[in-house]
Amino acid sequence: MVQQPVERALMLLAAASPPALPEALAQLSIGQRDARLLQLREWAFGPQLIGLASCGNCGERLELTFNSADIRLLPSSQEESAETAVPLSVSVDGYEVSFRLPDSLDLASISGETDGVTFRGLLLERCILSASHENAVIPAADLPGAVVTAVAERMSEADPQADIRLALTCASCGHHWQAPFDILSFFWSEINAWAYRILREVHALALAYGWREADILAMTPWRRQFYLAMIGE
Ligand SMILES: [Zn+2]
Repeated sequence: MVQQPVERALMLLAAASPPALPEALAQLSIGQRDARLLQLREWAFGPQLIGLASCGNCGERLELTFNSADIRLLPSSQEESAETAVPLSVSVDGYEVSFRLPDSLDLASISGETDGVTFRGLLLERCILSASHENAVIPAADLPGAVVTAVAERMSEADPQADIRLALTCASCGHHWQAPFDILSFFWSEINAWAYRILREVHALALAYGWREADILAMTPWRRQFYLAMIGE
């Protein structure tokens, strides 16, 4: 079965926090989930993150180096802030909307939707608890654009870690822009690269010495590096 990104996030978190129930992890807001992924990534690979971006104006490639602390908006002690648990609300132009923050279950339920506008509409429908206009109840799908925008803004204000943007400046042309940063895809590709590197090491050592995979994996990284150096890898 091909794993969806949402499932990857929950699997990583479940592996790192055994006392937490999977259902509880799935119900964290996306910002709370990402704060935990960021912490986990720091434990696994250290605080420094290195990424690549290309300038939308001149195409120049930029290498970005930053730290977990630069993109952590909530101290981990405040990660379970009260605001993410209670229903939120907005009142705009006579519309009263009560809603909650999206969680991993919401994202998983609509992960097959590729159209951005439809995705946003479905997500909103799941998260809106009640909507009314001058005291008459109305379906979430009938809310005007301005109200929908107010709801989306309130959501990202209440859960800022869910929407991390990096302020970038191109050294060649001076172009400024904001690039979204997704800890999940970043961390997942690092894990893939790490797994691929280990497999290459096993391949090289098995080929050179005829050792079994299990024995090579049981070695300390230092010993593996020593033998790899001996065979010129
Ligand atoms: Zn540029």
